[in-house]
Amino acid sequence: MLTSICGINWGDEGKGRMVDLLSEKFDIVCRYQGGNNAGHTVINEKGRFILNLLPSGILRDDVVNVLGPGMVIDIKHLCGEIAKLREGGIKITPANLKISDKAVITMPYNVLQDIMEEDRLTKATGKPYGSTRRGIAPIYADKYMKKAFRMGELLNTALLYKRLPDIVAWKNMTIKAYGFDPITVDEMIEYFETYGKPLAEYVCDTGLYLNAANKQGKNIMFEAQLGALRDIDFGIVPYTSSSSTIAAYAPIGAGVPNLKLDNSIGIMKAYSSCVGAGPFTCEYFGEKAEKLRELGGEYGAATGRPRRVGPFDVVASRYGIRCQGADEIALTKLDVLDGYEEIEICTHYLLNGKVIDEFPFTDVLDDCKPVFEKVKGWHCDTTKCRKKSDLPKEALDYIHLLEKLCECKIKYVSVGAEREACIDMDE
Ligand code: GDP
Ligand code: MG
Repeated sequence: MLTSICGINWGDEGKGRMVDLLSEKFDIVCRYQGGNNAGHTVINEKGRFILNLLPSGILRDDVVNVLGPGMVIDIKHLCGEIAKLREGGIKITPANLKISDKAVITMPYNVLQDIMEEDRLTKATGKPYGSTRRGIAPIYADKYMKKAFRMGELLNTALLYKRLPDIVAWKNMTIKAYGFDPITVDEMIEYFETYGKPLAEYVCDTGLYLNAANKQGKNIMFEAQLGALRDIDFGIVPYTSSSSTIAAYAPIGAGVPNLKLDNSIGIMKAYSSCVGAGPFTCEYFGEKAEKLRELGGEYGAATGRPRRVGPFDVVASRYGIRCQGADEIALTKLDVLDGYEEIEICTHYLLNGKVIDEFPFTDVLDDCKPVFEKVKGWHCDTTKCRKKSDLPKEALDYIHLLEKLCECKIKYVSVGAEREACIDMDE
């Protein structure tokens, strides 16, 4: 079974939490894109964990975790993340963590570039991209310019160090143009020695590993970071990430372009949240926003930034489902709406007086206004519900309405952050 778990919305839908739960039936969990700009919060019997680079399967003893070639890996951050999880009692060895030799390395100068550019944009235009400032856009740019270092090079540092001086000279042309101090070759060698060498033992051809595992009939899960609306091609450009967050990219980003997904599970939130800048049509402001933000605990796991919030957005979610080719949905954070007597849904957008129901191009999106409709809330605690029959009628109505409006089956409903706080709607 090859399954992808992907985000339908703007990210932070609760993918990590669903991967942690659903990975019970899987042998391997594989991250296939992005870097440590991800923040997945997972709460289970072992504790509360925030994962940035490691797949959420790392918390299960019998799951092998893979970082695929589609990823960008900040090696200093990864060393820190591994150390922190080990302190929390999680075992991490080359037997349960495999890093693709083809994944690229996010360098400290990429992080610097990200900061320099966001600051320049802020000063010049007052409109930064809202980047996590973790070097993701610059390292993907380096990758496509074929100037990035790859994890496999850590196995032969003599060659890597030969390549280093020219890359440093090239990068310094940019750094100096921003008025910052140049970096040195020696600093970079020290960086690789400190944070690269300890990771070398995890590096392998993950494509070979996954193909062999697939032949043996193992179940493989592909875990995405962020959501469809943050995809570099299909998202709200330029307020996107710099990688493909789309399920169809999973086999490529994992190192197995020859394999086909059996299904795609889209993680969709019962309301909307969005980190960073850019158009967010269904956005709430003022007291309405504060109430929902507090109820949902909407502060970024990677950055601590308050997230922008709004009601469920049918237009954006239907587009997200289409982009992800989702066969079924896990609807998360339903319990956050427990306190509402009436619940709003953004059913359409209004563009120059016309109602539209297809998600438009970014420039057009700026001019769209939300159309809200109200439905009856359930106004009671759902956090203890574990079966479909435990759910109040109005909650079931809300779920069925979203199913109808989004034209996709909702298979799971999550009513809490803890592993077991989830309902399988088929049971
Ligand atoms: P991800 O990036 O998609 O993995 O999502 P995040 O971890 O960034 O954000 C989801 C947040 O909601 C985390 O703090 C989770 O612990 C929490 N969470 C996940 N599912 C639920 C749920 O059903 N109910 C509640 N109340 N919290 C949830
Ligand atoms: Mg997150």
